[in-house]
Amino acid sequence: MMPFDSGLGRNTANYAALTPVSFLAWAAEVYPERASGVHGDRRFTWRETYQRCRRLASALRGLGVTRNTTVALMLANTPEMYEAHFGIPMAGGVINTLNTRLDADALAFMLRHGEARVLITDRSFSALMAAAVERSGVPLIVVDVDDPEYDGPGERIGSFEYEALLASGDPTFAWTAPPDEWDAIALSYTSGTTGDPKGVVTHHRGAYLAALGNILAWDMNSFPVYLWSVPMFHCNGWCHAWAVAARAGTNVFLRKVDAAAMLDLIARHRVTHFGGAPIVQSLILNAPEECFAGIDHTVRCFTGGAAPPSAVIEAMERRGFLLSHIYGLTETYGPAAICAKQPEWDELSKAERARLNGRQGVRYSVEEGLTVMDPQTMTTVPADGETIGEVMFRGNITMKGYLKNPAATEAAFAGGWFHTGDLAVLHPDGYIKIKDRSKDIIISGGENISSLEVEDTIHRHGKVMACAVVAQPDAKWGETPVAFIELKDGAEATAEEIIAHCREYMAHFKAPRRVVFGPVPRTSTGKIQKFVLRERVRSSAAIDV
Ligand code: ADP
Repeated sequence: MMPFDSGLGRNTANYAALTPVSFLAWAAEVYPERASGVHGDRRFTWRETYQRCRRLASALRGLGVTRNTTVALMLANTPEMYEAHFGIPMAGGVINTLNTRLDADALAFMLRHGEARVLITDRSFSALMAAAVERSGVPLIVVDVDDPEYDGPGERIGSFEYEALLASGDPTFAWTAPPDEWDAIALSYTSGTTGDPKGVVTHHRGAYLAALGNILAWDMNSFPVYLWSVPMFHCNGWCHAWAVAARAGTNVFLRKVDAAAMLDLIARHRVTHFGGAPIVQSLILNAPEECFAGIDHTVRCFTGGAAPPSAVIEAMERRGFLLSHIYGLTETYGPAAICAKQPEWDELSKAERARLNGRQGVRYSVEEGLTVMDPQTMTTVPADGETIGEVMFRGNITMKGYLKNPAATEAAFAGGWFHTGDLAVLHPDGYIKIKDRSKDIIISGGENISSLEVEDTIHRHGKVMACAVVAQPDAKWGETPVAFIELKDGAEATAEEIIAHCREYMAHFKAPRRVVFGPVPRTSTGKIQKFVLRERVRSSAAIDV
């Protein structure tokens, strides 16, 4: 036996299972009196948040939650949602955040498939959740959250009320780290841009590393003031819930994304960090000028979840926000790649910087691999900025797998890499640029058209608020691009004008053949549901040009 293999084992002095829950214990120990959160008139310190989470954990134990028990959450971005991100794993349970925009059938499926035992639900979702619980046929213990910031309709539907439940819990509850850091911490169903919900299971170790990875990628200073515009139900708020605790920051809670409300909170609480899909940035950029009054400090913003149009990146820079472009999936704990800015880029023109920043970039320092491969041969594509392949990740912030779905898990990990389903090119500097999701690419007359490229061009037309380009079956060309466009408030444009604009900036075959004006369907995280649009174009009777 080699000397390094003997007498040097693990013990409690030199090893602890990694869990992001420990960040909360640390924040409460080191900064007990600092503000952990603000929600309307409610204020919390890190001491209070830790106590509330321990009360929650002990109360959940009382309700039968133990190792691997699924606890479902149907909550807005409120303090209770934040507390659940610590209290549930402290009790050994698995956090199952539910997407607040889904319908009762989809939610019933998730409650059943995820084998939830407890459901914590905000009163505003009562009617929907009552139907979902009934349809699920699952005997759930339901806990109501009655947020004082919410005064709309909705009856309580549970046998417990959150604050009363907390009051019954033990504020000194002696939680322990999971027996194994590979234990599940969260179950998240993919949000449905592809119409195929799968239960992504992540673990304590990955969540710990992903939180730190965000801090490193974002150069997140101590005591950040973090505005909750990314829904916490989406990949646990991109793992930012745990990152804020690790930096003893202040959470500024937000029930609903609204540009004026966000800008008001940014000014009032001197918010330093927030994130959101590109549509969130577009909303902010279109807010009336007076909403920006009082913002005279540095605000850092993470954008991702969908490709940000370069026009949006440029405009955010002009507004003075420090924008970082990130990329990832629920399967990679949210962001696992960032378009890392090279200092030399500062010398370049705004447009050139926006072009470079529009790329999805390079791996987080806590992820081991990110590349673009031919998925059949599993060889890396040439770094020529032209050859399209599939984006692949590997490393410690990649999920455990899909719950009760070995076939999908095996396919996702084929060849020792995680297959994202995103199509991209590799640039000579090693940065990736996504061209499309595999299902979204348009093939017209045998030529590939990147729907993202067409959308980016359309976005450069000043009257466009949001757009999506999908394939329309065509007898002659196989497929042609059709554009769905949402105009800015009060703006007017014609299809001819949009098509002429595209033909001016792109090869003519890439210009949309048809343009449909009107609202585009989105997921609750702001992503456009292209499968809905594809269904719409399939019955071309539904299209009015
Ligand atoms: P869903 O698959 O249900 O939409 P996710 O939220 O996990 O769920 O979405 C991940 C997908 O979002 C990625 O596979 C990619 O297609 C898209 N995406 C995320 N970030 C970016 C980005 N920066 N640029 C382009 N696409 C992105």
